[in-house]
Amino acid sequence: MSLFSTISASLDCPRCHLPVDAVVHVQLGYAAERVRLAVGDVYPGLAGAGGPLSGNLDADGWCVCPECDADFFCRVEIRRDRISGLEPDRTRFPLGPDATLHRRLFCPREGRFRDMEVRLFAGHASPVRQLQPGDTYLADEFPAVDTTLRALGVCGDERQLHMVELLVRLRSGRIADVEPAAAPETGRIFL
Ligand SMILES: [Zn+2]
Ligand SMILES: [Zn+2]
Repeated sequence: MSLFSTISASLDCPRCHLPVDAVVHVQLGYAAERVRLAVGDVYPGLAGAGGPLSGNLDADGWCVCPECDADFFCRVEIRRDRISGLEPDRTRFPLGPDATLHRRLFCPREGRFRDMEVRLFAGHASPVRQLQPGDTYLADEFPAVDTTLRALGVCGDERQLHMVELLVRLRSGRIADVEPAAAPETGRIFL
């Protein structure tokens, strides 16, 4: 039995951009069993869930697209106890990356250089692209952007896999630089 209730909704997938009939998972309220809901339904079990007594709240949902198999988060709007709206939340990184690249980087947790798979999430694209330094990223949306993105590095071997917070610098829309988000001497925060 799942802890999650589901809301069925028609929406445009933010990753493959196709219109899909999505099943959005939400963890909210005290329903003993998972319930299947649709936009417009009363959301059960909200009393005492910590939400405002007026029955208005915004919740997080999560979804795997039936077309492209990539995931994304949604904002679920509940007004007067009813599910009044549901839309993809592009401000939140999905769980699955939209691009990866491989770099040898300093792991602050281990205090040494390691080969890492760098996972990028900001493009909300699908399928996953394999990038090299110098490749363009986000070029469809921002052709020549200079910015720094958060990313995750998968480090270690199967016995001790861990994530390292990274910063990826884009110059003119191209992958220019990858470095740990914390300076090596402050690696303590990862312990
Ligand atoms: Zn999709
Ligand atoms: Zn490491």
